[in-house]
Amino acid sequence: MSYIEPAPILDHANPLDSMMERFHKAAEHLGLDDDIYNVLKAPARQVIVSLPISMDNGDIKVFKGYRVIHSTILGPSKGGLRYDPAVNLDEVTALASWMTWKCAVVDIPYGGAKGGICCDPRNMSTGELERLTRSYTQSMYSVFGPDKDIPAPDVGTGPNQMAWLMDEYSRAHGGTVSAVVTGKPIVLGGSLGRVQATGRGVMTTALSAMAKLKINPYKATVAVQGFGNVGSWAAHLLKERGCRIVAISDISGAYYNKKGINIGKAMTYRNENKGSLKGFDGGEIIPADDFFKLEVDVIIPAALENVINEKNAENIKAKLIVEGANGPTSHKADDILLNNGIVAVPDILANAGGVIVSYFEWVQNRLGFKWSESRVNRRCDSIIKLGFNNVYKISKEYKVSLRIAAYISAIDKVAKTYKFRDGSFTFQKT
Ligand code: GLU
Repeated sequence: MSYIEPAPILDHANPLDSMMERFHKAAEHLGLDDDIYNVLKAPARQVIVSLPISMDNGDIKVFKGYRVIHSTILGPSKGGLRYDPAVNLDEVTALASWMTWKCAVVDIPYGGAKGGICCDPRNMSTGELERLTRSYTQSMYSVFGPDKDIPAPDVGTGPNQMAWLMDEYSRAHGGTVSAVVTGKPIVLGGSLGRVQATGRGVMTTALSAMAKLKINPYKATVAVQGFGNVGSWAAHLLKERGCRIVAISDISGAYYNKKGINIGKAMTYRNENKGSLKGFDGGEIIPADDFFKLEVDVIIPAALENVINEKNAENIKAKLIVEGANGPTSHKADDILLNNGIVAVPDILANAGGVIVSYFEWVQNRLGFKWSESRVNRRCDSIIKLGFNNVYKISKEYKVSLRIAAYISAIDKVAKTYKFRDGSFTFQKT
């Protein structure tokens, strides 16, 4: 069988290379035929726009915005919108593919997409961010839609941006369209439990993996890298279940306390300190480079891509990594972790809680009905546990890491669906 090889790897930090390497490996295990390999490899659509925005000082600044739709085979495409200075086409394309695999691995009826605007939201006013979000929405009016492509929050965005997006889309449409975006404020049709959902999924998959590895949560120590929405909620919920969170970090630094960090206090401090842990006194400051060398049982990378790479993977002492972020481990680090017996619950499974509850939000908007938080949490937990058990079973069957097993599960599902929809696949009598 011959495949078109992934593009040569020029830069270890390119997340698209990391995605393609795993895709390629899983495709080989599945014996995926060349035609489908080529269909699934290529993003279905890449839209790039220029967004001229009046800044508060009177200047006009032009921002670059992206929306990449990787696939609509399983349903309308779904995926977050990222505001970050490092946003570029390759990153958004990798993130869009990961959304396809993520939705498939937890069996929700969506394809994958991602949006991004290259900007620095920390240094922009609320007014500037609102104008930018509204302008992006106008440019993407023909791309978005409840049955076409549904954005959500990601790094640098949250309920405010989703509210502006929903409002701008609804104005252009001529009527309120709640289901065009998820992660909205509750009063605008957001789902209870959505804010905590990604961290909750990280907690659930971490506990499932700990059970397999015979790590007792009441004796486990955990380090969480990134203290945004995902990292802070994962830390909070794991602490509630008995784990000791001994280290947390954000761009201001890394904080260590061997007795355990008071996560509630850290969250309050961050909320009152413009989103930053700078000056937090609930732990001693340790050098950022030492973070991944810590003697802990579990590490949760919950910030950006490639923080675990071939340069630092060898130093990791934890037994388990649970990926709250998208793409935190480069493909070159995969083998190092595997050789050292370190288990990684991959991003496309571990952080799927967010998109699962986004799906519930979309369902509630379409039903015109609101679910209780306990119903949301219960259903999210059961979907993600099913996903975990399925991936675990495949990893044993194929003798591969949980990561490759997750890709095998996802690619197999999307490929089979494609064949049905394409008409070249016939029902087999069993
Ligand atoms: N940005 C989140 C992710 O990467 C959520 C996506 C969504 O809810 O559509 O999974």
